[in-house]
Amino acid sequence: SSDEESGEEYLFKIVIIGDSAVGKSNLLSRYARNEFNPHSKATIGVEFQTQSLEIDGKEVKAQIWDTAGQERFRAVTSAYYRGAFGALLVYDISRRTTFESIPRWLDELKTHSDSTVARMLVGNKCDLENIRDVSVEEGKSLAESEGLFFMETSALDSTNVITAFEMVIREIYYNVS
Ligand code: GDP
Ligand code: MG
Repeated sequence: SSDEESGEEYLFKIVIIGDSAVGKSNLLSRYARNEFNPHSKATIGVEFQTQSLEIDGKEVKAQIWDTAGQERFRAVTSAYYRGAFGALLVYDISRRTTFESIPRWLDELKTHSDSTVARMLVGNKCDLENIRDVSVEEGKSLAESEGLFFMETSALDSTNVITAFEMVIREIYYNVS
């Protein structure tokens, strides 16, 4: 292909961070494999999944990293963040404490990565409207004040999952190309 001839290749590392049980692993499995697991345990073994997307006629690959449950012990290491071009900061709209943790995750991200990282705040489990604990406005407002993209998603019913990942991937692509 012309990509190969010109030597152009796009592979971007993206990390998913946020408190335990907010749905990080299910967002990734929904995006990469269109799968949802209602009883998912802490991720074992899988470090990342790769998903391709065509932008401007070019193949762009996203290598999306999931924690192996280290976040429960606040032990996500700098190796996890190394080389990341994008990050999804995830909370659970039905658990306020997970939203209150976002500033800490943002600090950690800032410590371990470049300031140019494309960042999106993700309020997951928006299917749980009946037990919502964080309003859409609060999410938007935090995102605005920190300069993040914002989206509410549901890994369960697929709402905005593809859109959220693709917005981050496109943003990275336009930043580097
Ligand atoms: P992680 O610890 O952040 O990786 O979270 P998991 O992906 O393991 O999900 C934790 C729990 O929340 C599991 O029981 C999932 O089935 C559930 N879950 C994940 N995403 C959603 C969602 O969008 N809606 C609902 N209702 N449950 C979800
Ligand atoms: Mg997980």
